[in-house]
Amino acid sequence: MKPAPFEYHAPATAAQAAALLAELGEEAKVIAGGQSLMPMLILRLAVFEHLVDLRRAGELRGIEQRADSVWIGAGTTHAAVGRSDEIRRSVPLLSRATPLIGHFQIRNRGTIGGSLAHADAAAEYPAVALTLDAQFETLSPRGRRTVPATEFFTGMWSTDLAADELLTGIEFPIRRGRCGYAIEEFARRSGDFAVAGAAVAVGIDADSRIDRCGIGLFGLGPTATRATATESEVIGHRVDTVAAQDVGHSATAGLNSVPADLHGCADYRRRIGAAMVARAWRRAVEEASND
Ligand SMILES: Cc1cc2nc3c(=O)[nH]c(=O)nc-3n(C[C@H](O)[C@H](O)[C@H](O)COP(=O)(O)OP(=O)(O)OC[C@H]3O[C@@H](n4cnc5c(N)ncnc54)[C@H](O)[C@@H]3O)c2cc1C
Repeated sequence: MKPAPFEYHAPATAAQAAALLAELGEEAKVIAGGQSLMPMLILRLAVFEHLVDLRRAGELRGIEQRADSVWIGAGTTHAAVGRSDEIRRSVPLLSRATPLIGHFQIRNRGTIGGSLAHADAAAEYPAVALTLDAQFETLSPRGRRTVPATEFFTGMWSTDLAADELLTGIEFPIRRGRCGYAIEEFARRSGDFAVAGAAVAVGIDADSRIDRCGIGLFGLGPTATRATATESEVIGHRVDTVAAQDVGHSATAGLNSVPADLHGCADYRRRIGAAMVARAWRRAVEEASND
């Protein structure tokens, strides 16, 4: 199938793109890499009279190290994120998540901002952004805002972004000290969206007590989530007294909107989710312990 006809706009700046969105209203949609939007347009699951392409807005692309954070422009492709030495050093969880996204053709076109704005519950980047306490920078004709990841994802394919608001960049804090990071997912085939997955970030102090913990879940609800109760439970404990399997069970036990579809019932997904949390926990703890 072909998309319904639309008018194509290619503004040169993010400000021009936001102004266009405000002017054209609900009939307009931003397109970045098109890796989620194009299939929807082609299948006519979505129809927009205007597409506002962000490709010419160079200010939306790039990776910058700041004092205590790394800033990534929303228009930066997954491939650029994946090959960045800066990100490998400073935000290793993001580097490890990137090869799990689709195939290299998709990673060459798809953007980090597109993935986060699309907010698929089974996507890797939303869970990673939650786990690492990322901050989202936005722009609309009303000005700029910063939104913490915990407030950005509001439900199934929905975010805190207003219709005329662009995601311009994402800031990831750089963690110092003894830290470990891991992401694990189960997918039916390589390149598929995960049936269930988990990202873990662990920090331990000089006594090997857990002093920081982030556990992000994906494919296990209408949106990526953090297992906040489990995170609080483990803080302060010596890392060698916490069993990975218990962390997995605890992180998934309270989930009440686990999806059921042709890939598996809710109980199956929950069990896989618990196993993915446990695996990621083991690897993250091992890395933190050897740091
Ligand atoms: C076969 C296939 C397999 C895939 N597998 C995976 C996978 O395993 N894991 C995964 O995470 N993803 C997967 N994807 C999706 C892919 O990662 C997309 O790149 C990503 O979801 C969207 O990024 P994009 O830049 O292509 O966004 P687009 O498709 O251009 O846009 C997606 C949505 O985000 C909005 N948007 C884009 N940029 C902005 C912005 N800066 N500000 C505000 N709104 C914006 C658009 O309006 C649209 O609603 C897969 C895609 C395909 C086709």
